[in-house]
Amino acid sequence: MPKKITVKSKKYVYLFGNKKADGDGSMKPLLGGKGANLAEMTRIGLPVPPGFTLTTEVCTYYYGHKRTYPKELWGQVKAAIANTETILGKRFGDTEKPLLVAVRSGARDSMPGMMDTILNLGLNDQTVLALEKVSNNPRFAWDCYRRFIQMYGDVVMGVQKRPGEDHEPFETVIEALKAELFPGRQHVEDTQIDHKGLVTLVRRFKDLVKERTGQEFPTDPWKQLEGAVGAVFGSWMNDRAVVYRAKYNIPSEWGTAVNVQSMVFGNTGERSGSGVAFTRDPASGEKVFYGEFLMNAQGEDVVAGVRTPKPVAELNQVLPAAAAELEQVRKTLESHFRDVQDFEFTIEDGKLFMLQTRNGKRTGLAAVRFAVEMQREKLITWEEAVQRVPAEQLDQVLAPVFDRAAIKAAKVIARGLPAGPGAASGRIYFNAERAVEAAHAGQKVLLVRVETSPEDLRGMIAAEGILTARGGVSSHAALVARQMGKVCVCGASALQVDYQKKTLTVSGQTFNEGDFLSIDGTAGEVYAGAVKTAASEIIQVLIEKSLDVKESRTCQNFLQLMKWCDKATRMHVRTNADSPEQAANAVAFGAVGIGLCRTEHMFFEGNRIDSMREMILAGNTEDRKKALAKLLPYQRNDFAGIFRELKGLPATIRTLDPPLHEFLPNQEEAQKDLAAKMGVPVEKIQRRVIELHEFNPMLGLRGCRLGIVYPEITEMQTRAIIEAAALVQKEGIPVKPEIMIVLVGFPKELQNQLAVVNRVAQQVQEEQNTKIKYLVGTMIEIPRGALVADEIAKDAQFFSFGTNDLTQTCLGMSRDDSGAFLQKYQELEIMKQNPFATIDQTGVGELMKIAVERGRKTRPDIKLGICGEHGGEPSSVKFCHRIGLAYVSCSPFRVPIARLAAAQAALEEKKAKAKK
Ligand code: PEP
Ligand code: MG
Repeated sequence: MPKKITVKSKKYVYLFGNKKADGDGSMKPLLGGKGANLAEMTRIGLPVPPGFTLTTEVCTYYYGHKRTYPKELWGQVKAAIANTETILGKRFGDTEKPLLVAVRSGARDSMPGMMDTILNLGLNDQTVLALEKVSNNPRFAWDCYRRFIQMYGDVVMGVQKRPGEDHEPFETVIEALKAELFPGRQHVEDTQIDHKGLVTLVRRFKDLVKERTGQEFPTDPWKQLEGAVGAVFGSWMNDRAVVYRAKYNIPSEWGTAVNVQSMVFGNTGERSGSGVAFTRDPASGEKVFYGEFLMNAQGEDVVAGVRTPKPVAELNQVLPAAAAELEQVRKTLESHFRDVQDFEFTIEDGKLFMLQTRNGKRTGLAAVRFAVEMQREKLITWEEAVQRVPAEQLDQVLAPVFDRAAIKAAKVIARGLPAGPGAASGRIYFNAERAVEAAHAGQKVLLVRVETSPEDLRGMIAAEGILTARGGVSSHAALVARQMGKVCVCGASALQVDYQKKTLTVSGQTFNEGDFLSIDGTAGEVYAGAVKTAASEIIQVLIEKSLDVKESRTCQNFLQLMKWCDKATRMHVRTNADSPEQAANAVAFGAVGIGLCRTEHMFFEGNRIDSMREMILAGNTEDRKKALAKLLPYQRNDFAGIFRELKGLPATIRTLDPPLHEFLPNQEEAQKDLAAKMGVPVEKIQRRVIELHEFNPMLGLRGCRLGIVYPEITEMQTRAIIEAAALVQKEGIPVKPEIMIVLVGFPKELQNQLAVVNRVAQQVQEEQNTKIKYLVGTMIEIPRGALVADEIAKDAQFFSFGTNDLTQTCLGMSRDDSGAFLQKYQELEIMKQNPFATIDQTGVGELMKIAVERGRKTRPDIKLGICGEHGGEPSSVKFCHRIGLAYVSCSPFRVPIARLAAAQAALEEKKAKAKK
């Protein structure tokens, strides 16, 4: 007889409660961050209300099967509800002891406020009466009911703000009722509406739902649950979630989990409340308990910023026992998770419950301080400290502050909460769309709102800073701003914003949309007018040298982190610099040489561009040589300055690569001006411009092609480099020039230019009676160059990947014109990331790997680097490490980011090897 095979059905639902959980904290991909940590907190004995998690696989199934569910799902959900009922002794839909649940989203990485939540689910006209009885608190029961209808109506049934409306429809109904109940009174709190008022509100809410949707509000709890689960999965694809994912590179395949958790109530009266807290200050990084709570409120009230909450330190005054327990939880969380936690709690009649915990989002400033101080406290190792700081966040540590003198003269017009550090100044806009428009038109913008909601995300991205009149430090505005590194002041309650009139009134002054304001997100201050901003402390210490490092904890922490990076790293970080000043800045940030000096950029300054244009426009060799002779001293001088700054560090200097369209005088004004300076008729210039016009300048007469057609250009540049090197070497400063031939695809191109370089270098050394050690190499920036790298490596002593052009040519997408379609491509996920910012690893990256492998085959010790923009982008830097490059080169202010990413790549590799 054949063996009977029992197929176990797939597990889609994971339980937690009563100190037991099916999952644990390591299961974020399957259970989402929230679900995994609810399981983990349950396991370590923290007071978590019981419930269950529908896995992210349900979400994947849902989108893969026309928004339907696996057939096993609802059976498992029923069993999970039964389990929760047993633990609590309540029943779903019961008219005596009803179980109420919260339904929340929870992706692998948290996406604060981007997806939907429904609280108090399970209420209807019968169960609300039961809740009245068990709680002995009719006001509370009806408050829950009206909240439920409000959330469910909004999220599941779509009763939302229509275009042109500035307020949520449910809020409008509340405001109208308040006006009836408290005629003539301003600022009535929701808590002042009594039981009777709430019964009226519930009726009006139901009418609103009926009027807007044509449907009755559902009464069956199971129907409600199904609707809520569908809405949360549906919210994975809402506009703001899509925008958020695109910004933070979260793949849509991850999906969200759905957590269904029994309700606990922070709104039963004055011994109850809700709060959010961080185990340390996520803005400054200081080790202080940081957060806020509202008495007699549910958690959503705190984050929505509708009422301004109290600092968590004050909880002690109202509920000392709960405050002590919370302090204990703070310690347990940090020692268990070994990272700063951001958690939500509710106190129901004096008893503490934990609703969520996750690693706290933090500013760059705080990230560095947490890492350095937690290592000092022996909570983490130095290697972990390096890995804790997201490399892209280092940008924020270098963010500007107000100029000290300017801020002294400025007038504070309002104060709010310091929610996102840094200084920002700009024209004020009162809604997200107009802020985006103004920013696109090139203005510096401050987004000013009464309170922000996730719909404002685009406006927040576009703005320099965000200012709100209401809301606390953990409101949506604050959280999102901090994460984006935006300057933010919130809860500046003196501000009176009139959306209709587009005005802001404060301290007797009225500002119109478009007027300037300035905000200090570190101090929480608002200033009238535009205030000059100044560099961050790190810049002041390292670059401007106007501040002593002993005076700056921020800079000390930063330098400690960088020291650890050096200990971990294998790859070096160089810089793309075209002037002695840029080179000096980069060296101050820890660059160990120049990876790309774009010699054509040296001619942007002053009237040097004229000689450059003269050279480009020259119709014969003689004229060209004349123009080149004018350029020679400039170049020699600049190179000498660079060598002096580098003090023996290598400098890769690239031969001229001017895509002609960037340098030709195309405007009539410029043509006339140049003609006058050159003493030739303007028609001559115009004729030459027409002759030189190219249809595809990026694929035209540029790079080594220019030096091959006009060898005198390469001759002049080699002479300038070697003469400068000889000069500086004679001053006693060591020099390491590396001459880089550009846009090479054929070995013979390199050979041609190499012959010119070596001949002139020899000549100059003889003239100067000195010896200069120099290397000659090439850029790999067109696919052919990568494919024949073995041939090219016979002559090239080094390769540097020009990934800007390599991307443009590999993808056949213009660097300059792809803006027209890239955004759409990213929205449709044809390409997940902008390939000009982040290396397209499967395409361009493959070419790089081929070049590395073939180049090394010919010349095992060939020096390999990258100098395209990708050299300062963390995930690309890590890729460069993995394929074995010796260095990355990036713009000076990105050097710290690249150093951190390079160190992280080395540590990741070490970890992976240890695992094997
Ligand atoms: C490149 O193409 O990646 C590069 C560094 O050169 P440029 O940006 O000057 O073309
Ligand atoms: Mg290039």
